[in-house]
Amino acid sequence: MSGLNATHDPARRSWVESANAPGSDFPIQNLPFGVFSEGDGAARVGVAIGDMILDLTALEQAGTLVPAPGEWVFGDGVLNPFMALPQHVWSQTRARIAELLDAETGGPEGQILVAQADARMHLPFFVRSFTDFYASREHASNVGSMFRGPDNALMPNWLHLPVGYNGRASTVVVSGTAIRRPNGQLKAPDAAVPHFGPCRRLDIELEMGAVVGTPSEMGRPLTTEEAYDAIFGYVLLNDWSARDIQVWEYQPLGPFQAKAFATTISPWVVTREALEPFRVSTPERAMPLLPYLAESAPNNFDIRLEVDMVPAGGTAKTISRTNYRHMYYSSAQQLAHHSASGCAMCTGDLLGSGTVSGQTPDSLGSLLEITWNGRDPIDLGGVSRTFIEDGDTLTLRGWCEGDYRLGFGDCVGTILPAMQYGI
Ligand code: MN
Repeated sequence: MSGLNATHDPARRSWVESANAPGSDFPIQNLPFGVFSEGDGAARVGVAIGDMILDLTALEQAGTLVPAPGEWVFGDGVLNPFMALPQHVWSQTRARIAELLDAETGGPEGQILVAQADARMHLPFFVRSFTDFYASREHASNVGSMFRGPDNALMPNWLHLPVGYNGRASTVVVSGTAIRRPNGQLKAPDAAVPHFGPCRRLDIELEMGAVVGTPSEMGRPLTTEEAYDAIFGYVLLNDWSARDIQVWEYQPLGPFQAKAFATTISPWVVTREALEPFRVSTPERAMPLLPYLAESAPNNFDIRLEVDMVPAGGTAKTISRTNYRHMYYSSAQQLAHHSASGCAMCTGDLLGSGTVSGQTPDSLGSLLEITWNGRDPIDLGGVSRTFIEDGDTLTLRGWCEGDYRLGFGDCVGTILPAMQYGI
């Protein structure tokens, strides 16, 4: 199913003029899927084109776009029924949508467009399970050397397998959802016992999320090739993290409440097919991988990533610029590893890549690294921060740049004060 086709042709233009603007995230070559509503209306499936949304639910009802004859796949206000269809149907549907939006082969007659400015975006798919990985060698080395010293920066398993943990799907939310500062158990290094209260070291993790479309059977592992093809698409993902809760709770079973309170994803799922022109290889292996993790094709993507921070009442500053291409393990390797034991993978499973950090100080994907665990505050235009304060807004952005720009939109969250307990 992989490879380039007419939907990637850089010469194609849309009759939706805003899609042809050089800075648009959503040219006709992108066509990401999302779920939106207007006013009190029901949630509908759409595709972003320029600053508009093409209403696929309406096109399916009109018989213009029929991915699965006899079935309503865009009628449920989630992408799961579509993502569960065979991979060739994803491609056929994308090709048909491109035809409908192309300036040569399509036109506005019979199409239902909604301005993105008038729409409210929803979580695009029912998140079946959420797994978070730890695939940036730079991030793992930074965090390891911070807490265990530079000689023990990487744990002995890290160069052999994609480390991960099973997170919570229940608190994955769409961009724009306000995030309540978590309470939890905290213990200062010099305190004898912990206390319960608001997290003081609230952080982001800049990640990509891979969305599983094709399920796998329990007991039947996926190859990296099958895993690559099973991924329907990608979103930006902010794995909000409570560092002070994490440092006390994480041993010996890994993160728990420090990560369970919220994960934000961007509203548009950029399909794996749309990303085909931006495939790159994973970095050179420091140690040979076991055969089940070997890759026969470039399974990483060249995706530029940025984080903006707006302190409460202040102005935005870009605090990180990095690239997803540096990740040591691809999503295909992570999915293959996840299924290696026989674990069944499901339509709607979400795999967080792990914090994306680069090799330079301006390319780090968490405040933990940027401020070196609070030692080096950052200046946000006269306002200083080590971690996130109430009222601060964090925005992740991502895009590919080649013959055309192809973007993911924004992944935004603002922090609300913690719930007050009478204790
Ligand atoms: Mn994470």
